[in-house]
Amino acid sequence: MSRSKSTLATDLRALVTTSTIIDRPIDLETYGYDASFMTQLSPRAPDVAVIARCREDVSAVLRYANERGIPVTPRGAASGQAGGSVALHGGIVLSVHAMDRVIEIDTANMQVFVEPGVVHSRLNETLARDRLIFPPDPGSSRMATLGGMASTNAHGMRAVKYGPTASWVLGLEVVLANGDVIETGSIGSRAKQSSSGLDLTKLLVGSEGTLGVFTRLRLKAMPIPPARALVMGVFDVLENAGQAVQSVFAAGITASAIEIVDARSIKAINLYRPNLKLPDAEALLFFEVDGAPAGVRWEAEKIADTIRSRATRVDWSDEPKQMAALWEGRSVVGAAIGLLRPGSNRAYCGEDICVPVARIPETLREIQEISRRFDIPIATYGHIGNGNLHPGHLIDARDPDESRRVLLVADAIHDLALRMGGTTTGEHGVGAVRRPYMEREHGPALEAMRAIKRALDPNGILNPGKIFLTRRPQVT
Ligand SMILES: Cc1cc2nc3c(=O)[nH]c(=O)nc-3n(C[C@H](O)[C@H](O)[C@H](O)COP(=O)(O)OP(=O)(O)OC[C@H]3O[C@@H](n4cnc5c(N)ncnc54)[C@H](O)[C@@H]3O)c2cc1C
Repeated sequence: MSRSKSTLATDLRALVTTSTIIDRPIDLETYGYDASFMTQLSPRAPDVAVIARCREDVSAVLRYANERGIPVTPRGAASGQAGGSVALHGGIVLSVHAMDRVIEIDTANMQVFVEPGVVHSRLNETLARDRLIFPPDPGSSRMATLGGMASTNAHGMRAVKYGPTASWVLGLEVVLANGDVIETGSIGSRAKQSSSGLDLTKLLVGSEGTLGVFTRLRLKAMPIPPARALVMGVFDVLENAGQAVQSVFAAGITASAIEIVDARSIKAINLYRPNLKLPDAEALLFFEVDGAPAGVRWEAEKIADTIRSRATRVDWSDEPKQMAALWEGRSVVGAAIGLLRPGSNRAYCGEDICVPVARIPETLREIQEISRRFDIPIATYGHIGNGNLHPGHLIDARDPDESRRVLLVADAIHDLALRMGGTTTGEHGVGAVRRPYMEREHGPALEAMRAIKRALDPNGILNPGKIFLTRRPQVT
């Protein structure tokens, strides 16, 4: 270990009260990865990791790092797929996963106060005791922390009806780069709406650890909908599936989830869960509706009637066991894809585009063409109701040429998203892997983002190398 790294660890140990400092190289290795292919290819361990246990320690670490120009990378569960929580420029990884208390559930005002390390599924298990729910619902529910979700503005299956995480964050306690602590959304407020001042909460949600570290979140909750129903449509023509989604919107129904799995994904699910016996088809659509029992049944029947002329088969159910079986197919798809090609693994890159709903069939066809061009199998699924698609590329990571080709696949897919009038990331964030597209995607607006970054973090210590290029600080 170099002298400066050991000094860093010694200094930090003297600074913090309850937090843990990790500096043994072997222990730091795990912090070199998140769920991105980029870090699988080139992991980068930090010089030191801090397992923060209180706001005061977060503040002390940032104040110290800011005075010395040391990079600090905030980290939750590291389930991100964009390299966001990995310290690409070294320095300190500041993990807040151990700050994991549900501080208070205010049932009368339907809001909940949490520390940033609370895992999404645990929050909803806790809220369910009061018949409440926090609706954003990422596929990584059992891993992702609320701090990470707010920081990436996570979306998930139910965003089509309930919106992204941003719609459910009322306020944040944030430690700024210089160690100062601010509260957004009005100090001590329990109001559910506000027009007071610049909306710093919205600015900070989605900032991916580049503007501050969240140490407490005030979240909105809502009553659990009393009933749900699920409609499954089977399509032998991709274009018909796209039109079916549009026809449901045109029929005036707001489904709580609209998901697609393509032909390869169906095959993968059947390999993973043979008992599900999903029909072979070009695509399956799943529509979920929620609300009062009578309305839910009416909406499910209406969706079934609306899509029937375009589908080869339509089933619907409001019976919990049957719904759970159908949903299971969708929820296992990310893991199941690996079975399509034994010995392969999934490369998370170019995995999160979002295109206009009307251009989904065209986009899916082009993804198939990209798969053929680069000879890399791709299975695609996603939150089709909002146009968010997750192409899953299968590679043999031991073959350097496949690793090279899959990066070309990711580039072609990002390019496709922008050509379609969409975005390179619908919900996972920019991190390091999508930074090269930011100029093209945002034009002069990127400079406005950089100006905000400079104002809040003039020394550029917070998560350098993510979202936008900023001055690279040096460890002193
Ligand atoms: C199988 C799988 C399925 C997924 N499905 C979805 C999905 O459906 N929808 C979706 O949106 N995402 C999904 N994701 C992506 C990922 O889970 C989300 O981006 C999640 O919000 C990241 O949370 P995390 O705690 O793992 O954050 P991390 O990966 O640790 O960090 C992500 C970013 O947030 C920053 N950060 C973390 N905590 C804080 C904090 N307290 N303060 C400031 N910055 C912070 C980090 O610096 C980093 O930039 C999926 C991932 C996997 C592996």
